[in-house]
Parts: sequence; C-alpha cells; structure tokens
Amino acid sequence: MRVIRATCSLCGQQAETEEVPLTWLTSVENGRKLLYCDRCTRENVRAIEGRLDPVYW
Ligand SMILES: [Zn+2]
Repeated sequence: MRVIRATCSLCGQQAETEEVPLTWLTSVENGRKLLYCDRCTRENVRAIEGRLDPVYW
C-alpha cells in the first residue's frame, strides 16, 4: 500500500510520515487543502494570516 506523505504546497518538501507535523500549517484555498512546512510557514506567515489573495508567492 502506498503511503502518501504530507507534502509542502510551496517547496515540495515531504514530511517523514503521512501525518501532517504539528509545526506545519494547513490552509484551505478555493476548496483545496494546502500544506506548508515549518520553514514556509515562517516565511509566509504574514501573507497566510493576512489572507491576502493567494497569488503564488
Ligand atoms: Zn515548504
């Protein structure tokens, strides 16, 4: 059975497990579930929290 690991929507980094790490951020944009790894979350926290238009950074 194939394990689909959590993958960062920005940089493509994969988590160690299929579970989303606690340090990662989950966001829903246009009905799609997006994940951000800890690094991307830190770098984009303002844009994400500000809910600016998710124009790809
Ligand atoms: Zn990332």
